[in-house]
Amino acid sequence: MADKIEQREVGVKYPDLVLFGPPGCGKETQGNILIEKFGYVRISTGNICREHVKAQTPLGLVAQEYMYAGELVPDKIIIQMFQEEFKKIPGDASPLIDGFPRTEDQRQLFHEMMTKEGRDYEVVALTANTEDEEKALVERLVERAKTSGRTDDADPDVIRNRLKVYNEKTGVVLDRWKAENKNIHKHSAIGEILGISEWIQKEVVEKYSQRVKDVLDQEIS
Ligand code: AMP
Repeated sequence: MADKIEQREVGVKYPDLVLFGPPGCGKETQGNILIEKFGYVRISTGNICREHVKAQTPLGLVAQEYMYAGELVPDKIIIQMFQEEFKKIPGDASPLIDGFPRTEDQRQLFHEMMTKEGRDYEVVALTANTEDEEKALVERLVERAKTSGRTDDADPDVIRNRLKVYNEKTGVVLDRWKAENKNIHKHSAIGEILGISEWIQKEVVEKYSQRVKDVLDQEIS
């Protein structure tokens, strides 16, 4: 982690990022590129759940029932997991949050936590709004199942349920952010990996860094 943080240009501030979108939208892939390039520290609630399941912890034993069915793990459990992980982030690191928040209660808690810590954040939403785009996501997940070893990728019915759950329970999180005038950076999830990643870098990360720099320059002058 320390090596990654050292990759930052001195004095450049990167935004705390939430990577948001339906299963298969490319959050993990885009996250990997951002981590490599900017030294982000990832908190992925899906990964945390999988670690708990692997270790068969009490939280993992409960979580797996929901995960294997393509359902959301109850807020109480996921929030506890998220809070524990969030505490571990070094103060000078920029978190990249993947898979959280996924319900309105999670969103509210997340917003309160960030506000309390004096942290602002940018939301990147990778979208699949048309039937064709959703179909492309299912195909991606079926393909990913061949290598990911993820039980919840293996069954097309579970994949479809995860997309249904996203549309019913998670999509509203974006609506609530919008209603509170949160600036959401949206891009279709279907496209070239590198094209999308360049867009995130230019439109979100670099523009934010420039805004912070402009404010600091103004304060100095
Ligand atoms: P992911 O790797 O983000 O697709 O997450 C895999 C599974 O973990 C999801 O299908 C849920 O069962 C569970 N999960 C991950 N993050 C959350 C969350 N924020 N709220 C509820 N369940 C979650």
